[in-house]
Amino acid sequence: MRAIASISQSALTHNLSIVKKNSPNARIVSMVKANAYGHHIDLVNPIINQSDLLGVSERLEAEKLRQTTNKPILLLSGVIKDQELQQAIKLNCQIVVHDKTQLPVINNTKQAINIWIKINTGMNRLGLSTSEYFDCMKLLENNPLINIQCVMSHFACSDEINHPMNQSQLFEFKKSTHSTKRSMANSAAILSNPASHFDYVRPGIMLYGVSPFDTINHNLKPVMQLSAPIMSIKTIKAGDSVGYGATWIANKLTTIATIGIGYGDGYPRHAKNGTPVLINNTLCPLVGRVSMDLICVDISNINANIGDNVILWGNQQLRIETIAKHSSTIAYELLTGVSSRVTFINVI
Ligand SMILES: *Cc1c(COP(=O)(O)O)cnc(C)c1O
Repeated sequence: MRAIASISQSALTHNLSIVKKNSPNARIVSMVKANAYGHHIDLVNPIINQSDLLGVSERLEAEKLRQTTNKPILLLSGVIKDQELQQAIKLNCQIVVHDKTQLPVINNTKQAINIWIKINTGMNRLGLSTSEYFDCMKLLENNPLINIQCVMSHFACSDEINHPMNQSQLFEFKKSTHSTKRSMANSAAILSNPASHFDYVRPGIMLYGVSPFDTINHNLKPVMQLSAPIMSIKTIKAGDSVGYGATWIANKLTTIATIGIGYGDGYPRHAKNGTPVLINNTLCPLVGRVSMDLICVDISNINANIGDNVILWGNQQLRIETIAKHSSTIAYELLTGVSSRVTFINVI
């Protein structure tokens, strides 16, 4: 008995259409890093086929993606050594330059390359400073082998719509980048800040049907549905405990279903008592600690049988955002944490 992650192709298409509706004039760089946010790169064809570019964080991801598509790939990490540059060119990547130490290798290219320049507008993670950016433009503009496709930056707080950083980063970005193509918006900015859309938008989490904000967005459709079967059902009496550490104790006669999924599959160990799971269209509360292979659920209020399918997340009635809240994390971490023990299947 095992856990299954079903990946909805129609939900991917739908969510991409929401990106297009929100930013009709921008080209789309769909972010498929971290194995398409844990959805498996070979199961997200609708977004691969219908985007202008595909964003990955490092070369091994680009290699894997290149086996399924000829679309241009944006390599966010860029390159440091000439050998990495050669590999990136071979994979037909557009290469991000985010640090001045990357410039000599880029400027010494022997073949034509397409690059993106990333500038730091306040997140202070990757990106050239304004003065480094001007120096870089001067240096690279005269190199006929270098085609500067776009200048990009990244928001630190776009999931908080009214955070003052959003305006200050946008202001910084606009100040130095009039004469080039530009890209700034991730999912949160695509949905909330049209002034940040520019020439290319970079949707990630919204493609997978997850709201980038604190509230659920019912216009987005969940792409991954995680499910597992009921393996056992028992009745316990008041005073009996459930699971490791005996942390949950029944206060009355209780029916407990044991489900074949645990933190070894990527279900969060920190999910609290009361975290909802969906059984036969009814939400039931998790009880006791999550173990490696199993969780326990109070099913006293429903009819259920061994073998019945239990949905852990990815349903209109049970969104992954809710599970993230109950386990003090974000949906990004849950999605990218589904383990290789789970069977992934493609569904319409
Ligand atoms: C991951 C990533 C995105 C997408 O962010 P979401 O919040 O998932 O939409 C956009 N831009 C860059 C540079 C990223 O690394």
